[in-house]
Amino acid sequence: MSHSTPRIAIVGAGPGGLLCATVLRQAGIHATVLERDPSAHHRTQGGSLDLHEHTGQAALRTAGLHDAFLKLSRPEGQEMREYAHTGRLVAHEEDPEGPARPEIDRTDLRTMLLEDFGTENVRFDTAVLEVRRTPHGRTRLTLGEGTTEEFDLVIGADGAWSKVRPALSDAVPLYTGNTLVETWFTDVDDQHPALARLVGHGMMLATDAGDPTHLLIGQRNGDGSIRVYIGLKCALDWAAQAGVDLADTEAVRAHFLTVFAGWHEDLRRVLRENEGPFVNRPVHRLPYPHTWQHTPGITLLGDAAHLMPPAGQGANLALIDGADLALAIGDAVRHGSGLDAAVASYERTMHPRGAAAAEESALALEQ
Ligand SMILES: Cc1cc2nc3c(=O)[nH]c(=O)nc-3n(C[C@H](O)[C@H](O)[C@H](O)COP(=O)(O)OP(=O)(O)OC[C@H]3O[C@@H](n4cnc5c(N)ncnc54)[C@H](O)[C@@H]3O)c2cc1C
Repeated sequence: MSHSTPRIAIVGAGPGGLLCATVLRQAGIHATVLERDPSAHHRTQGGSLDLHEHTGQAALRTAGLHDAFLKLSRPEGQEMREYAHTGRLVAHEEDPEGPARPEIDRTDLRTMLLEDFGTENVRFDTAVLEVRRTPHGRTRLTLGEGTTEEFDLVIGADGAWSKVRPALSDAVPLYTGNTLVETWFTDVDDQHPALARLVGHGMMLATDAGDPTHLLIGQRNGDGSIRVYIGLKCALDWAAQAGVDLADTEAVRAHFLTVFAGWHEDLRRVLRENEGPFVNRPVHRLPYPHTWQHTPGITLLGDAAHLMPPAGQGANLALIDGADLALAIGDAVRHGSGLDAAVASYERTMHPRGAAAAEESALALEQ
């Protein structure tokens, strides 16, 4: 590549950042990927995702990873069962979204992207603390170790609580009034056959039509384990208000058994027999549309740009953002046209796409 190759940093090795780095590399452009986590497998990556044909899967095609994705994906993971709180099955679909949206475990997706890009090419244990434009037209990162580094372009792919975003916008994530409390079951078919039947190969949703303030979601993962999300409409400090210490699994369990009193015993077992702790995940979103005035040398992708409630779109958008941005930069470098114009063109595509999905996701959450 010529001496005019821009110096690019990608902050965050999530799905969006890694996909972007991979497609840039295909264009012969090396990006420095900085990741706060100490190592690749420092934390579990959560449940499974369905990747959509025109966003997540299209991005994987661009990266040359679609065949690898198909090998890891699980079309049967689409199965959906809906229950009333009485335990009555009210709906059951084997393939509600059609074959175009197979599921993949989040860990498998991350591992696939990391291995393809090269785990050794990610600078782990490197948190970005601050991002500033310099008077010389570059972008300076302040890193956790107190050092600084300068780049021609910094891409904020650092998720919900992005440290890059404040350089572009004053927007901060808002609590949606909904919290998911996550827990899990590993040896499901032997130890928890009732739960295995409830969830099947895909997902189950259980609700009480008379009381929409709480629900249960169960999701099968590729290794057979089941991840459960207890959905609550509640204050951000619901646990403190209820006098429950979130670190005390038995206290949280006792609280939930009261909240879900009157539910069928098979559903209440989910609260009684979980193996994992209860992990509190308040649902936040950015105001939408979230846009900013184009600023040379800095941009955002994925959750950093358009954090939305989990309604099946966030990872898909992070992937397609990463692909679009990398393709635009690759074109600019190949044709010797401006890097800045390429980033602005990506933002013109990404902003309305992110805003539309954010609105849909907010509506889905309400419903
Ligand atoms: C419960 C739940 C279920 C979901 N289900 C779905 C689904 O079914 N389908 C779907 O499409 N989406 C789903 N989502 C949304 C999806 O997980 C996100 O939209 C997606 O992970 C965003 O990808 P990203 O690359 O933008 O950011 P992230 O995945 O958040 O990655 C950001 C990375 O940046 C790193 N980082 C953060 N700060 C710094 C820093 N200061 N310095 C360096 N590194 C940093 C983080 O450690 C992380 O590795 C769900 C989300 C939740 C919470």
